[in-house]
Order: sequence, then structure tokens, then C-alpha cells
Amino acid sequence: MARTKIKDILLSDKTDYTVNVKGWVRSFRNNQFIALNDGSTINNVQVVITLDTDEAITKRITTGASISVDGTVIASLGKGQKVEIKADNITILGDCDTDKFPLQLKNRPSLEYLREIAHLRFRTSTFGAIFRVRHSLAFAVHQFFNDRGFVYLHTPIITASDAEGAGEMFRVSTLPTENPPRNEDGSIDYKEDFFGRCTNLTVSGQLEAELGAMAFSEVYTFGPTFRAENSNTARHLAEFWMIEPEVAFNDITDNMDLAEDFIRYIIGYAMQHNREDLEFLAQRLVDEEKQKPMNERSELGLIEKLEFVLNNKFERITYTEAVDILLNSPANKKKKFQYEVKWGVDLQSEHERYLVEKHFKKPVIVTDYPKDIKSFYMRQNDDGKTVAAMDILAPGIGEIVGGSQREERLDKLEQRMKEMHIPADEMYWYMDTRKFGTVPHAGFGLGFERMVLFVTGMTNIRDVIPFPRTPKNAEF
Ligand code: ATP
Ligand code: MG
Ligand code: MG
Ligand code: MG
Repeated sequence: MARTKIKDILLSDKTDYTVNVKGWVRSFRNNQFIALNDGSTINNVQVVITLDTDEAITKRITTGASISVDGTVIASLGKGQKVEIKADNITILGDCDTDKFPLQLKNRPSLEYLREIAHLRFRTSTFGAIFRVRHSLAFAVHQFFNDRGFVYLHTPIITASDAEGAGEMFRVSTLPTENPPRNEDGSIDYKEDFFGRCTNLTVSGQLEAELGAMAFSEVYTFGPTFRAENSNTARHLAEFWMIEPEVAFNDITDNMDLAEDFIRYIIGYAMQHNREDLEFLAQRLVDEEKQKPMNERSELGLIEKLEFVLNNKFERITYTEAVDILLNSPANKKKKFQYEVKWGVDLQSEHERYLVEKHFKKPVIVTDYPKDIKSFYMRQNDDGKTVAAMDILAPGIGEIVGGSQREERLDKLEQRMKEMHIPADEMYWYMDTRKFGTVPHAGFGLGFERMVLFVTGMTNIRDVIPFPRTPKNAEF
């Protein structure tokens, strides 16, 4: 008999039909009630076994074991679920070594511990919910852009350019690690390398996406990006996914509107398709909040927080206004900030979170940053000091989006690259877009994991990517 997904059984009120289900045992009570989960939903289906079931089988039904059940769907007498399965036949697919299995229900493991057993944590309700939500958000990304006629452009993973100029790149090389060929000056001779030049894993697909926008008008890329940043924070990964739309004929305001629409769309999609997962995660947060003193508990629950974002426009302020607010804030006067607030210095996460969580109490878009703290490709404003940049800041996280209107004027771009010592000749392919029919255009990068953090209410970025890569950690 073909397998039916547990989700489909629970979603329907239908009873008195036979099914086959397969999954992993979450618990086994009184030698009679199995809570079975197959990952299709946060909910377990209750399987009731008949009392004359062979003891050789019941002994092997333990938390973690995988089983196949043929049975009949019947109305449930207990509260909670409407239906349950009366088992006619149970087959053990895989025994579970219970002495060693770390996910027994009695000792609910901490998130820290689950990070150490990341290969098994998918089996918990929390991580099941997180990764189903992540899946939906990823699907919604494509849905959003497809509905609006964007072309999904696959930008390269291996690149010869450093888009951000931040020097946080992972080298890709097939040269021998011992005694690589060297130039006369002692530097490594990449002519001998696989590509005949020095190559790296991409930090952003933006520059290549710009090439696409200059032909298709609107494109987006959604792929893995890599940054060798040695910061062990709760919001940085060495390997993360980024969504980068790039749109010709758009200015900075269009760009902000697009980003807001996009964020609302994917949140709305997850709320519609993953209601139970989100409610589970919301309850998890409520339980966690109870451990905190009253005055530190958050005012809004997860669902309310998401609904708030769906229903309220983001605040839009300039960097200069942001700095003024921060300088005049009670937090600054009481010397609560670890890092100094000063015009010309980038905002730190603590400043971003203050603006969002304490001052505006809503997501904030900060525009017009000083040009010296932003990348060479951002469009220079007429004041000569700032660029048409925009960062979106979210509660609990800080920056989730970095974007800008791009410098489409060849002379301005060349002058800026010279000032920043970026070799324009090596980037002839980028400069060509400004020579052959340049147009105003804008785009942004949204860190996908930061978005998943926001939607799931989790606080550590390691908990929202299936296989986290952070400094000194690349398990499997
Ligand atoms: P941050 O200031 O947090 O280090 P950034 O300004 O260096 O971020 P951008 O170059 O603007 O990042 O990249 C665009 C987006 O990618 C960011 O807004 C963020 O959402 C995400 N992002 C950047 N670095 C990381 C990282 N190491 N891990 C996860 N997401 C990241
Ligand atoms: Mg950074
Ligand atoms: Mg930043
Ligand atoms: Mg940024």
C-alpha cells in the first residue's frame, strides 16, 4: 500500500479508511500509544496498537525508531486531534539504540547541545518547524519574483572579483599547498592555477546581477555566498544564502518599496502556509520568556510581531538623522553603548537595534550613508559626502538588507574606484555596462538566514541553517 503523509491524514476529517504511514517514533506510552512523526507536519499522529501485538515488536518501538504502520484511520476519542490510527500491522524499519540516542523526550535538549548534534536535530519539533518555515520562505522568494516578471539569473559561485572589496574571501585553488609556484617577488604565481588566475568563492552576486539587469531589466539571484569573517557573532555565518534583486530604471525609493513589498510577501506566505509551525515556535518563545524577569519580556508574541510587519510601513530615515537620534538618546547619555556613535562611522548592531526596538518600535530603513563606509558602486549624492545606500534594520537582529542605487555615471564611477584603489581595467566587464547604454538601476541583498531568524523568532543564526559553517566549525 502506498504511503500517506501524516499531514494529509491530520488535515482531513475523513475516517474509516485504511492507510500506510511511515515515520519516526517520538514517544511510546503505556505500551499502546505511539506518537509518530514523518516530518510533513509539526504534529504527530497517534497510532494505537492492539493489546495482542507481538511483544517482540513492541519492545522495539522506542523513541527514535523508524516504523511502518498499516492501519485504519478512526475518530479519536482523546482531545487534541480529531483522528488517530488503529494499527493492524507494524513493521520495524530501523531500531534505535536508545542508550545512545540523544533525543529522548524526557530531557529536552538545549539549543547549544543540539548544535553539537546538528545531524540529528532535524528530528526535533523545533528544528522541524524552523526548516519547514525556511523552505516556505525560499519558495516564496521565487514566487514573488516570478510573479513580477524577474529573471532568475544564476551568478557564479567561483569568482575572480571581490564585490565588496572587504577582503573576506575564501580562496579557490588547485595549487599544491606545499611549495606552490611563486613569482620572482615571492608571491604565489596563479598562472599555474586551475583558472590561470586567483579565484575565490563569491561574497555577493551583485556585480554579475547588474550585467543581467542591463539586459532583462529585472533580475534576481538567490544563492550561497561566502565570507571568511572571523567574527563569532549570532548573526554571521561563513556560508549563507543571499537574495539579490537588481532592477534597471529604478531609483533608491523604488528600491526601498520593492524591498518592503518583498519582505511582506514572504512573511505573509509563511504565515499562510506554516501557521502551525509558527504557532509552535511562538509558544516556544513564550515558554522561554517566562524564564526572564518581567521587565525584560517582549511585549509582542511572534505572530503579533509578524502581523505588525505585514500591516505597518517601515520607518525611513537618513543616516545623519539616525546618528542624531542616537547621540541624543538616553542610552547614549547613560553611556550604554559599547561603541561610539559618530558621523562617518558605521552603525553597530547595538545602535541598529536601539533605533528599531527602543526608538521607532518598528523596522527602519536608513538611507544616505557616508560614502567612505560604503562600497564603490553606490551612487554618489549631490552633497559629495553621502551615497544613495539603504539598510533595512529589523528588531532583534539589526541589518537584514543592504542595498543601494548604483553609480551609473561612468566618470563618477571611475573617479570613485581610483580613490578606493580598485583596478577598473580588471573590471572592464563591469565598466562596459556604463559605456554601452547605461541606465539608472538599483538593487539590494537580503541575508536569507537573517530573514529566517526574524520569522522564526530564533536568536542564533546557527539555528536557522541546516548545516552551519562558522569559524572552526565545518562539521560534515
Ligand atoms: P553586517 O554589517 O551585518 O556584517 P554587511 O553590511 O557586511 O552585514 P552586506 O555586504 O550589506 O552585509 O550584505 C547584504 C546582507 O547579507 C546583509 O544585510 C545581511 O543580511 C547579510 N549578511 C552579510 N554578511 C553575512 C554573514 N556573514 N552571515 C549571514 N548573513 C550575512
Ligand atoms: Mg559584514
Ligand atoms: Mg553592515
Ligand atoms: Mg550592509
